Amino acid sequence: PEDLLNDLRPEARNEPESSIMTVINHGFGRQGLIPLWAGEGNLPTPRFICDAAVKGLEDGETFYTWQRGIPELRDALARYHARLYGTPFEAENFFVTGGGMQSIQTAIQAIAGEGDEVVLPTPAWPNYAGPLRMKGSRPVEVPMTFAPSGWQLDLDRLFDAVTERTKAIVVNTPSNPLGWVAPAEDLLAIRDFARERGLWIVSDEVYARYYFPQDEAAGPLPPSFLDICDTEERLIMTNTFSKNWAMTGWRMGWMVAPQALGDVLENLIQYNTSGTAAFMQRAGVVALDEGEDFLAEQVRQAREGRDIAYAALSSVDGARFAVPEGAFYLFFTLDGMTDSTETALRIIDEAGVGLAPGAAFGPGGEAFLRLCFLRERGQLVEAMDRLTRWLARNR
Ligand code: PLP
Repeated sequence: PEDLLNDLRPEARNEPESSIMTVINHGFGRQGLIPLWAGEGNLPTPRFICDAAVKGLEDGETFYTWQRGIPELRDALARYHARLYGTPFEAENFFVTGGGMQSIQTAIQAIAGEGDEVVLPTPAWPNYAGPLRMKGSRPVEVPMTFAPSGWQLDLDRLFDAVTERTKAIVVNTPSNPLGWVAPAEDLLAIRDFARERGLWIVSDEVYARYYFPQDEAAGPLPPSFLDICDTEERLIMTNTFSKNWAMTGWRMGWMVAPQALGDVLENLIQYNTSGTAAFMQRAGVVALDEGEDFLAEQVRQAREGRDIAYAALSSVDGARFAVPEGAFYLFFTLDGMTDSTETALRIIDEAGVGLAPGAAFGPGGEAFLRLCFLRERGQLVEAMDRLTRWLARNR
C-alpha cells in the first residue's frame, strides 16, 4: 500500500489530516450526542422545493444537461441578484455548480496553477487552502486579530502578503468560522488594490442572507463585492443553495463571473462533474423565486440561536468571543486551552456535544472552538446547558 501512495502526486498526498475530520470520526453517530460541528441547521428542505425536483424527474429531466446550468435557473439567478444587489448581472454571468465547494474549486482551477499564490485572511474555512495545496499553489494565510469587540482584518498586512506570484485574494464575508462581516470600506480598499495589481477577487458570500448587525441602521444585506464591482472585471463570487434553503445534501451552487470566462468555466464544469442534475435545477428555480419566507424563518432561528449561545457562553468564566454579526457560528476561546482538537474530543466524550476545533481554520484559530447555532431551540438550549456545565467543571 505504501508503494501505491508513493505513486501519487505529492501535493495530493501531503494534505494534512483535517482536525475537523478527526473530531467528527470520533463522535459521528454516537448515541445522544448533539452535533454542532457542521455548517447546517436541522430543518429539512421545504416540501415545495422537493416537489419541484420530483416533478422534474416525473417530467423526464433525466438526461445530460447544459454545463453552465439550465436557462431557466440562470434566469432565476439573474432575477434573484437583481432583487438584492446593485450591479446588473445577466443570466450569462451565472454558472451552476455542484455546490459552493465546486464553485470554489472551479474558481481556483481557473485562476491559480503550480507555484502561484493566493492570499486569504484566517481563521478561514479550510476548503480554500486544501484545494490550493492539492494543485501545487500556495495559500498565503494572513491571520486576523481577535478582540471581543470584533475580529479585525489588517489591510496593510493583507496587501503586504501579495507578491508577483499572487493571483487572487479570497474573501469570505460573512465569515465561517468568525461571524465577522467585512466593512464596506475594507471591500472598497481590496477592490481598488486588486484593480491596481491586476488580481482576482474570489468572494465567498454563501452566508450573505444570515446577517444580524449590531448597528440597527445597517441595511438588510452585508456589504458585498456585487455592489461595488463591474460585471466584467476580475471577480468570481461563489455561492450555494445549501445554507439559505436547507439544501446541504443536494450539492448545488452557483458562481457569478464575467461573461468572458464562459467557455473556460464551461470546460472546467464539464471536466469535473459534467453538469448538475436538471431535475435538481428545477428545484433551484423554485427556491430562488419562492423561498424567501422559508429563508426568513431560518434567519430568525439563527438570530435566536446566536442569542442563546451568546447568553450561555457569556456566563462562562474564561470564555471569550466576538459577537457574530453574520453566518451561524460562534467562535470562542477558553483561557488556558492549548489544544482545541484534544478539547473537542473531550467535550464529545464528557459533555455529549460535538464542536469543531479551531485548529482546522488555520493560523489564529488554534485556541478556539466553533459551534453552529442554527438549531431548533430545544436542542440548542440542551447543548449549551451541557457545554456550560462541562466548562464549569473543567476550569
Ligand atoms: N463557503 C463557506 C464559507 C462554507 O462554510 C461552506 C460550507 O460550509 C461552503 C462555502 C460550501 O457549501 P456547499 O459546498 O455545501 O455548497
